[in-house]
Amino acid sequence: MTYPASPSAGVSLPVPAAELDAADPLARFRSRFLEPEDGQVVAYLDGNSLGRPLAETAGRMGEFIGGEWGNRLIRSWDESWMDEPIRLGDRLGDVVLGAGPGQALVADSTSVMLYKLLRAALDGRPGRDEIVVDRDNFPTDRFLVEGIAAERGASIRWIDADPKAGVRPGDVAAVVGRRTAVVLLSHVAYRSGYLADAPAITALVHDAGALMLWDLCHSAGSVPLHLDQWGVDLAVGCTYKYLNGGPGAPAFGYVRAGLQAELQQPLWGWMGAHDPFGMSEQYRPADGLRRFLTGTPPILAMQPLKHMVELIAEAGMDAVREKSVLLTERAIALADGLLAPLGVGLASPRDPARRGSHITIEHPRFREVTAALWERGVIPDFRPPYGLRIGLSPLSTSFAELDAGMAAVRDALLEVS
Ligand SMILES: *Cc1c(COP(=O)(O)O)cnc(C)c1O
Repeated sequence: MTYPASPSAGVSLPVPAAELDAADPLARFRSRFLEPEDGQVVAYLDGNSLGRPLAETAGRMGEFIGGEWGNRLIRSWDESWMDEPIRLGDRLGDVVLGAGPGQALVADSTSVMLYKLLRAALDGRPGRDEIVVDRDNFPTDRFLVEGIAAERGASIRWIDADPKAGVRPGDVAAVVGRRTAVVLLSHVAYRSGYLADAPAITALVHDAGALMLWDLCHSAGSVPLHLDQWGVDLAVGCTYKYLNGGPGAPAFGYVRAGLQAELQQPLWGWMGAHDPFGMSEQYRPADGLRRFLTGTPPILAMQPLKHMVELIAEAGMDAVREKSVLLTERAIALADGLLAPLGVGLASPRDPARRGSHITIEHPRFREVTAALWERGVIPDFRPPYGLRIGLSPLSTSFAELDAGMAAVRDALLEVS
């Protein structure tokens, strides 16, 4: 991909993009991603919705199909696949989640995993009938809470947080109490990019005797996580966003070791049973983490994720975070310089310590602007009513790409205005 020479001319940025790219310790990882064909992509700013494929993935998928599948056939279940959900979960736990072994597993979709863990949490706190969630959480999260509340006769305690920021510890402290069974929040808000204070919120949820379930869809692979250290009970997340697992790649779930024996999830399938091949008459859950499985694990769909987790291990999550902060700082500086004069506002936190790896900017014409941008290979995404999200995947995005994308937003906005 090539970029216009100085798309940000006229804006006072302390350092030119080329200098930042030259000094970027992660720059070498960009070539590990599949290069789009000429003319397809000018700037990809939506890795927070669908991460780019790794270049090695096509070849390694071929090897997998010929080898483990084609040669070993059904024998691969015994040889490796049965353990894959937890083996890959362990690796993900080590590299990305800050979780010791035996607590993370890869299975289902995020929505299904969320249903299982949320219901397990509610059922695991008998005598408590409230689920706490915020009104600006991602739709599937809110809908699942509504469905479970209807199914179990529970109540929903809604948090109304500032949509340009997110849920703060004080917002949670104000609503949790003796009726609270479980609190569900997104660690990084899908709209504003607000990064919640996970350790503080988890601690005060525990003080109320409730369980904490974090949705990590927008933080896994972009923000260092320390689930064990933070005392998190439960977590779920996507693997197709910053973990580049590919469209519809399975979700991950995390269940704290000390909680596993006491919780039971509601989708009783043979893969979560005590002895899957015993073909027993009645369901008895497996000991430990396996009880959170339901059906046959999506082995084929886990393969690209395995490659990406190893890439992240090479780069290191702290380095990923450092670059992420530089990218979002620059995106905000470009928004202030190029777009604010055209009436564009920032709908994300200015404090990098409270921000994930995307920002949202707002303008009434952004729906049309997004359509025009997609046509010319500049790819952010649009979130109603007026939000343009600029997602910055630190391992695959360059500073020059960001500059080119933001200049294109300005040009498109000038054209529609
Ligand atoms: C992307 C995302 C999801 C997606 O759920 P799926 O079941 O994979 O469609 C759920 N929650 C949040 C917060 C997300 O950002």
